[in-house]
Amino acid sequence: MLDCAIIGGGPAGLTAGLYATRGGLQNVTMFEMGLPGGQITQSSEIENYPGFFEHDKTGMDFMDTWQKQCFHFGLKHEMKKVESVAKTGEYFTITLEGGEKVEAKTTIVCTGSVPKRAGFKGEDEFFGKGVSTCATCDGFFYKDKPVTVLGGGDTALEEALYLSNICSDVYVVHRRDEFRAAPPTLERIEKKENIHLITNSVIDEAYGDAMGLQGVRIKDKEGNITELKNTGLFVFVGHDVRNDVLQDENGEFICKMNDWGQVIVDLSMKTSLEGLFAAGDMRIEAPKQVVSAAGDGAVAALQVISYIQEQA
Ligand code: FAD
Repeated sequence: MLDCAIIGGGPAGLTAGLYATRGGLQNVTMFEMGLPGGQITQSSEIENYPGFFEHDKTGMDFMDTWQKQCFHFGLKHEMKKVESVAKTGEYFTITLEGGEKVEAKTTIVCTGSVPKRAGFKGEDEFFGKGVSTCATCDGFFYKDKPVTVLGGGDTALEEALYLSNICSDVYVVHRRDEFRAAPPTLERIEKKENIHLITNSVIDEAYGDAMGLQGVRIKDKEGNITELKNTGLFVFVGHDVRNDVLQDENGEFICKMNDWGQVIVDLSMKTSLEGLFAAGDMRIEAPKQVVSAAGDGAVAALQVISYIQEQA
């Protein structure tokens, strides 16, 4: 019987593992289907994690020490995909790929969320090399330079506003003639002189070379192409929350979720199901940053320690 099962080994899961083991729990296993580290390992650089200021280090280098630190304090890692989490009576049953079952007193789910891709030519090739899904992470790399934003919802326009404070010009490309974002957001957008709205258009291609993205081609409804050179490209077409493990055999969630499939938690990362915690990008209102995912993981682990003490 595990004291705590941690599902997902990104910044949230690893930090939960560090705090749970250093907090005295003896039997803590992190189930991570790949190598630990999470999404940030896809990044060529991280500039906004406090205390880490090394420009020649990739996201992979950055996460390497996290694992070493966790394993040093006794966190166990099983490189397995979790299929589902169920609670029967007092304890949780974690079902792994292949059918193996593991019991745990508590569970912290940290399976993250994945930004959706728009599907234009060059998107995958230049992802992390000029094509980004995070203005907070990468906006500063384009200080006083032009950027292009793809999307028409609240997130796209909020991120365009954020970028407009850093970048020289922000070109927002949207496939429809009207934006879906809330009216107050649209009003703020209209007041910004350096935000330019390009409607009824799509990104046809992102192009570049070994150095990264060099420009984008934008196609309107009539098929006319406009080229924007020397621009970063930010794609905001939604997120897929990795919440499958929280569904039972009938497809019902075992805890309360919001309409976007994010886990509803309180400030202690508690879900609506006793003993189940959720942390990082998969929870409601997540800032989708390494620092906040790590903070969530620490909070969840401290709550797990208290919960186990209360139950003893
Ligand atoms: P994740 O990092 O998504 O980790 C979830 C883990 O769960 C994954 O490793 C996954 O394999 C595992 N998993 C999922 N399902 C299962 C399952 N069923 N069984 C077992 N394991 C499972 N943030 C910043 O703060 N600064 C940046 O500069 C920055 N740059 C970024 C650049 C890129 C290219 C990307 C993609 C993201 C960037 N981010 C950045 C965002 C940051 O990476 C995320 O906010 C953070 O990683 C979220 O951590 P998490 O632990 O919640 O989830």
